[in-house]
Amino acid sequence: MQVYKGILLMDGVGFDSNIYLIDKELLVDTGTGIFFTQIKEEFENLKINPKNIKMIVNTHCHFDHSGADKKFRDLCGAKIAIHGADKKALETGNGTMANMFGKVQKTVTVDRVLKDGDKIKTKNFCFEVISTPGHTPGSICLYEKKKKILISGDTIFADGIGRADFPNSDKAQLKKSIKKLSMLKVNYLLPGHGMPKVNGVDFLFKQVLAKMK
Ligand SMILES: [Zn+2]
Repeated sequence: MQVYKGILLMDGVGFDSNIYLIDKELLVDTGTGIFFTQIKEEFENLKINPKNIKMIVNTHCHFDHSGADKKFRDLCGAKIAIHGADKKALETGNGTMANMFGKVQKTVTVDRVLKDGDKIKTKNFCFEVISTPGHTPGSICLYEKKKKILISGDTIFADGIGRADFPNSDKAQLKKSIKKLSMLKVNYLLPGHGMPKVNGVDFLFKQVLAKMK
């Protein structure tokens, strides 16, 4: 479904993360891969040519967000991008939590290492990489300043925050990251799971931060 003009959401089934396709050229997260065939079919139905997808950005290394990276990279020939602190997990499979899902991570080589402040541009969007460690060390959000869109991965959802009880999570850092996000003007919150939130995002930040005290 279209969640913003130029942004398609393939909403996650089961444990799958949401997958966002931006301007038909940038894929944000890939899901577990369990539903890869269905997503591929959906692309066909929507007349999306996978070969036009140039880049896959992972909001973080967890299996439910990156499990299908290899499948999508093989299908599209796209480059894989992730924050430096989560790069090793994607390349070795260690730290992706695939075992928690009873699966084995299909590892990929990272082509572009992201850091805070980097820009990811498509035809109609310019996203800034916001480093938001906490859920994982290399968790990022993507912020479109002009359009006030925040793609938030597992850092914040429409109904709360990401888990901070994994071996390499850090709750204090997560709180700092949410504080950092709360400084941004956000009208469209596009999270890694669940439905997007339109409006009231500043109130959500306040609510979440109050609970974290
Ligand atoms: Zn996660």
